Amino acid sequence: MTEKYDLGIVGGGPAGYTAALHAAAKGQKVILFEKEFIGGVCLNKGCIPTKSILKSSQLFSDFNNCESFGVFAEGVSFDWAKITERKNAVVERLRKGLLLAFKNAKIELVNAEAEILDAKTIKSEGNIYPCDKVLCCVGASPKVIKGLEFDHKFLISSDDILNLESLPKSLMIVGSGAIGIEWARIMSNLGVEVTLVELAKNLLPLADIEVSKRVERIFKTRGIKFYTETSVEKIDGHKITLTNGEIVEPEKVLVAVGRVPNVKEKIEGVIYLGDASGEIQLAHFGIKQAIEEIDGIKFEKNLTPSVVYGSPEIAWAGLKEQDLEPESYKKSVVLVSALGKAQCDGETEGFIKLLSQGDKIVGVHIVCEEASALMQQVLIAIQNGITPDKLKEICFAHPTYSEGIFESLFRL
Ligand SMILES: Cc1cc2nc3c(=O)[nH]c(=O)nc-3n(C[C@H](O)[C@H](O)[C@H](O)COP(=O)(O)OP(=O)(O)OC[C@H]3O[C@@H](n4cnc5c(N)ncnc54)[C@H](O)[C@@H]3O)c2cc1C
Repeated sequence: MTEKYDLGIVGGGPAGYTAALHAAAKGQKVILFEKEFIGGVCLNKGCIPTKSILKSSQLFSDFNNCESFGVFAEGVSFDWAKITERKNAVVERLRKGLLLAFKNAKIELVNAEAEILDAKTIKSEGNIYPCDKVLCCVGASPKVIKGLEFDHKFLISSDDILNLESLPKSLMIVGSGAIGIEWARIMSNLGVEVTLVELAKNLLPLADIEVSKRVERIFKTRGIKFYTETSVEKIDGHKITLTNGEIVEPEKVLVAVGRVPNVKEKIEGVIYLGDASGEIQLAHFGIKQAIEEIDGIKFEKNLTPSVVYGSPEIAWAGLKEQDLEPESYKKSVVLVSALGKAQCDGETEGFIKLLSQGDKIVGVHIVCEEASALMQQVLIAIQNGITPDKLKEICFAHPTYSEGIFESLFRL
């Protein structure tokens, strides 16, 4: 039995490390157990590595499409090994930063697997750690579905794809959530032939319907093949028969059909945060849950924003059009092509859409460069009940994509 801790945490992803740092800042004695790498899935296998690779792929694509800007790049090529090397360096740098923050905050970090015995006890490597409070922040793992079980060679997960030694010539992606869409964009940027298969009626099924349709249009113009209302019927070697009768023979298949919390059974009194909570599986959701738990700062879960990265970005928050009763709302849509900044950048694909009820903005849905930052501006207004009329009083800079938000206020 060791000395007693104020807070014991299992899992060092965004939920766990945020809880640890915020509790330590309040003077609590904190211990955190992490069996792999600090930073969790987000830093080591999720948000950060994919966005690093996405950036490399985007640069390659931009150089291949720069002639219309009067810029000519010859002999542009890429080296997958160097792309992954850079990705590893980015991850390593951020990991070091976290470790330093832990050291400075005097958080005890145990690099080992741990088991939560009850609401006040953690066991790891034969030792018992009594704690006043225990947080379970063990995250989630790729979902396995029947017939598409990972063999980690042909049928791969979002973990496996990060460790590919070379790029396949063709890739089938099953599932068009954020992970599927981002990898479709990355691989397509790098010249891999992509086929996306989605069971739902539209791509990105959790998005506003017009966003989904726009993504489909963008994929069509970029030659990214996709099938909706379709799943895999049969696999025979590399030959895949889809339920719509199509036969595809990809070199690899990325199965990205969701993630399952790493929690077998919930223990009474233990607090579950992040992906382990079984709620919204996003890093910032886990971070906000942790801050709510430690600092008591409440947040509006219904206003957790979503972002899908790539060009153009896709971002939304609040209610979607399909959530609202007809006639109960107003909508305004500004096409990105109407914006001076978009024309200058040659990034004219997309729209900025606001939904309102009475004098309240209730939803924002954006397909546009910088959508992640634009959405956040509107989210601040939504959460604080800042009316469209009040927002009209703000001076938006020109030329910017934010002008699209300003413009859309006058169309509500
Ligand atoms: C490819 C991909 C891209 C993503 N992109 C984004 C994005 O752009 N934005 C976004 O918001 N979200 C993104 N996500 C989701 C995001 O990564 C997760 O929501 C987030 O990591 C959840 O944080 P967490 O703290 O709950 O758990 P995790 O980050 O999963 O961390 C849990 C940690 O617990 C450790 N652990 C588990 N069991 C034990 C045990 N028994 N003992 C000790 N340690 C244990 C694990 O090793 C792990 O490090 C992405 C996910 C993937 C897979």
